[in-house]
Amino acid sequence: MQINQERLVNEFLSLVQIDSFAGEEREMADYLRRQLTKLGLDVTEDNAGKTIDGSAGNVIARMQGESDKPTIMFCAHMDRVAPGKGIKPIIENGTIKSDGTTILGADDAAGIAAILEAVRAVKEAKIPHGNLELVFTIAEEGGLFGAKALDRKQLEADFAYFLDSNDQVGAIINRAPSHQNLVFTFYGKAAHAGVSPELGINAIKIAAEAIASMNLGRLDHETTANVGVIQGGVATNIVPEVCTVKCEVRSLDPDKLKAQTEHMITTARTSAGKYGTKLDLQLTDCYSAFTIPESHPVIELAVKACKALGITPQIKGTGGGSDASILNSKNLPSVVLGLNYKDAHSTRESVAIADLVKVAELVTAIIEHA
Ligand SMILES: [Zn+2]
Repeated sequence: MQINQERLVNEFLSLVQIDSFAGEEREMADYLRRQLTKLGLDVTEDNAGKTIDGSAGNVIARMQGESDKPTIMFCAHMDRVAPGKGIKPIIENGTIKSDGTTILGADDAAGIAAILEAVRAVKEAKIPHGNLELVFTIAEEGGLFGAKALDRKQLEADFAYFLDSNDQVGAIINRAPSHQNLVFTFYGKAAHAGVSPELGINAIKIAAEAIASMNLGRLDHETTANVGVIQGGVATNIVPEVCTVKCEVRSLDPDKLKAQTEHMITTARTSAGKYGTKLDLQLTDCYSAFTIPESHPVIELAVKACKALGITPQIKGTGGGSDASILNSKNLPSVVLGLNYKDAHSTRESVAIADLVKVAELVTAIIEHA
């Protein structure tokens, strides 16, 4: 295998030192455009930034290849979570981590670095390949906005690999849940808590009774539900007038998702009904479930590439959403590949250099075996 470990690590270190938050990916987008242009690829940027008032769009690069092979897309996201400004990566015993004051940003710079290194390796070794489409999305964190704004008609890929999972290298994620967000606003009636509490209706109590009656947590092997945020009240001497409760439901099975959402709405309505108070409800579809059959070429090719490298392929589901959820709903068969970074979204985040190399090798092998 033709991976240049030093070049790969240096690329990773460069990437994480470029500040890149959702909506503020300009510097990263410019950097990637320069690198990809240098490699001789056709590079464009779409208008996705406009949808979130951001500074950059999705960067899309194309590499022409043999037309008798499928067109394969590799994708990673350019943005990262806080605290991720001024990242100072440190290498210790073959592992890269931050200095402890920020995240590392391996989520998803590890994916970007692996894609760039694979392209360099393929070019250098003149490995025969089909058409490649590389997509670097904006604003994955917090809403998958870049993927949502991607124009499917502009994409030529037959199928896609998203490099964005903390699962071990060899993991091929072919199932992800539907996800709905629910926001309940319970209304009570304000009153002086000491002088005339009987004139008030406590919105926090109404919300609390509703939550206490909700089935939450892991509901079965494919369904979860959570109450994540409660906001209500202004002072201890006022009977609270408003209480907002933010929840989510996820399931691999659309019918179970619907049933759980209905259960939570019914519970909230029952509680508000008991006090004769108003309830507002906001329901948002975040993304839809997908399952890619194991016989699909996107999986068969990844399995073949894993086996060629002596990596054990592991086809599995996830409880999380990603850009792949969005592209699957746009009829682009997509799976997520494991990068094995650790403790993402925390200041303990790290990635082993050996895993960076393995992922770059895997991307190269996918290209080679298509
Ligand atoms: Zn990510």
